[in-house]
Amino acid sequence: MSACLLGKKVRYDGGSLSVNDQLIEQWVSEGRIVSLCPEVDAGMSIPRKPAEIFEGSGSSVLDGEADVIEKGGNIVTDNFIVGASIALELCKKFNIEIAILTEASPSCGSSFIYDGRFSGNRIPSMGVTAALLRRNGIQVFSQYQIADANKAIHATSA
Ligand code: SF4
Repeated sequence: MSACLLGKKVRYDGGSLSVNDQLIEQWVSEGRIVSLCPEVDAGMSIPRKPAEIFEGSGSSVLDGEADVIEKGGNIVTDNFIVGASIALELCKKFNIEIAILTEASPSCGSSFIYDGRFSGNRIPSMGVTAALLRRNGIQVFSQYQIADANKAIHATSA
C-alpha cells in the first residue's frame, strides 16, 4: 500500500494523505499491509519537486518511450523506474497479489495521472509503479476502490 495513504509524510510536498476506512485498520491489525513509497525508496528527497509523465503513460516510460519530468525540466525517469522495480521486488518477497496505490501519482496512479504539462489536467492512464505491478500480474486498486480490493483479497484467499 502506498505509504502516503497510511499517513506517512512522503509526498512531494512533505505531506501525507489518509484514508479513514475500517478495512484498512483491519488489514493492518491482520498484518496484511506492506507500506512502500516508490519515489522515496528510489532515493528521492522529501520534499521534492512535483513530477509528471510527459506525453506518455507508466507503460511507455517502462518501454523507454516517455520520460518523467520534474517541474522545471529535470528528467527523473530513472528514479521512477528504480522505485517501481523496488516495489515489484517487495511484492515478490512477500507474495503480494494486491496493491492499493494513490490515484493520480506518476508512480502510483492506476486510473488516471496528470498530463505532463503541470496544468492540473488529468488523463486516463497509470503511473510507472502501477504499470510495472500490473505487468507482473498484481492487481492494483486506488484508495477509492477499497471495497473492490477487499473482494479481491477474499477471492484470492478463498
Ligand atoms: Fe505516495 Fe506513491 Fe507518491 Fe510515494 S510515490 S508519495 S507512495 S503516491
